[in-house]
Amino acid sequence: MAEPITVIGAGPVGSLLALFLARRGHHIQVFERRPDMRRVGIGAGRSINLAVSTRGLYALHQVGLDEEVLRQAIPMRGRMVHAARSEPRFLRYGRDDSELINSMSRGELNKLLMTEAERTGRVRIEFQQRLVGYEGGRARLRDEHSGEEREVAAPVVLGSDGSASALRAALGVAVEQSWLDFGYKELTIPPAPGGAFSLEKNALHIWPRKNFMLIALPNLDGSFTCTLFLPFEGAASFAAIEAPADAERFFAETFPDALALIPRLGEALADAPLGRMATVKCARWSRGQGVLIGDAAHAIVPFFGQGMNAGFEDCTVLMEILDHEADWTRAFAELSDSRRPDADAIADLAVENFVEMRDKVADPEFVLWKEVEAELDPVRPHRPRRRLFPRPFAHPRASSPVAPAIRTGRERGLKRFRGAREGRERGRIHPASRLGRGYRHVKKRLPHSRPSRPPLKRLWAYPRSSVRTSQRSGKKVRSTSCFR
Ligand SMILES: Cc1cc2nc3c(=O)[nH]c(=O)nc-3n(C[C@H](O)[C@H](O)[C@H](O)COP(=O)(O)OP(=O)(O)OC[C@H]3O[C@@H](n4cnc5c(N)ncnc54)[C@H](O)[C@@H]3O)c2cc1C
Repeated sequence: MAEPITVIGAGPVGSLLALFLARRGHHIQVFERRPDMRRVGIGAGRSINLAVSTRGLYALHQVGLDEEVLRQAIPMRGRMVHAARSEPRFLRYGRDDSELINSMSRGELNKLLMTEAERTGRVRIEFQQRLVGYEGGRARLRDEHSGEEREVAAPVVLGSDGSASALRAALGVAVEQSWLDFGYKELTIPPAPGGAFSLEKNALHIWPRKNFMLIALPNLDGSFTCTLFLPFEGAASFAAIEAPADAERFFAETFPDALALIPRLGEALADAPLGRMATVKCARWSRGQGVLIGDAAHAIVPFFGQGMNAGFEDCTVLMEILDHEADWTRAFAELSDSRRPDADAIADLAVENFVEMRDKVADPEFVLWKEVEAELDPVRPHRPRRRLFPRPFAHPRASSPVAPAIRTGRERGLKRFRGAREGRERGRIHPASRLGRGYRHVKKRLPHSRPSRPPLKRLWAYPRSSVRTSQRSGKKVRSTSCFR
């Protein structure tokens, strides 16, 4: 195998990838366009914190870092929904407290991964080196400090250089890119006096407002990072709240409880950079001995909290492929073929989840369906989790022959659920006895209205919780489990 192997981009995925490859005995050169964030006070780019879930933890477990990451993370057991005209309401993510996602500082995670990669002695990360071209197994790099360009041999190259990947362009991979009409800005809720949390600590907070929303994830220091998602244009939009006074007025009308927690909100919002969100789907991820991985291959919008987690899973899958395939070209092609359907599916789910987060979580019917799911789960633990709340495919056009059946099924399902719950409260009916009949009524008809979507092969592949031996302490531990 040709050495050293070249990785472009030392973001979370590139750093983890370098660590994985180094642990297999390879020598890796990594070129990163930004300065070293461990030495220079730069942000890690994009969001300040992010949610690490099972998919990501599984990859981190493979390199022995899951416990370290969990020590620096805050578990979020569900969504705390701050509806416009009612008290905040907690919607659990899973069956119980073992099913959760973890809020983690993006910068700290990235730094940890870079340090662990370098600690192997086989990874050299060169900073402020931007890839500007790649041809014939040679990478052209520009020094971001001096502006000088040079060429290095890179016969085997892995591009983890993000959604605007330069390697993707150089490899000539056909790409489909779609931008949301929404942007985002980040704000901070500082810690309460004494470092306390001013909102529920173990939750992802959402203020759903139909066409837009605010979310907040907890940080270890007692603060929360809030992200405001708004359309670029329109009545309620970033264009309409440019001046600090407009922002204060907008928050007073739409998120009054959040306004009270964010000091100097108007100025903070005006100063915050406006981010854009894209979905990137590639026709193929590999060309010869070059491959794309992470956001470079499949950037997704952030509403499923799975972009980085899916990038981490790319690394796990590539390592599994390298266990039986020593030829880089064939291994990269296999990665592309096996991973692309999953990545495309999760990209669609992420867009779908935007509607769920900004609108549906405040809908009483949605809350009821979530309760149905929670009731059904314990009696069918062997079955994969079903999302009972009707997805877009359950809303056929009015002209569709299945539309009335779906409507009736939903109504009957909800009626039975309400009845069963009331009966149980009076101590008469087993909770599961009558649940789900209406849903089955709906489901029988769904195949006709369901658009074809590639199966999510790996989505449920990992056990929700497992007992294993800790690498550090040698003790038996239950690994943290979550489903998103
Ligand atoms: C608001 C927001 C919230 C998010 N929340 C979550 C979440 O909760 N959970 C989750 O899993 N995901 C989340 N994501 C998605 C996540 O940020 C990305 O999926 C993840 O950062 C992808 O990692 P990456 O290493 O592939 O790419 P990036 O993080 O983009 O890293 C790419 C690296 O390559 C470098 N680079 C770029 N171009 C070049 C070049 N030409 N030469 C050399 N180096 C280069 C960059 O400087 C960077 O260091 C969120 C995204 C956003 C925008």
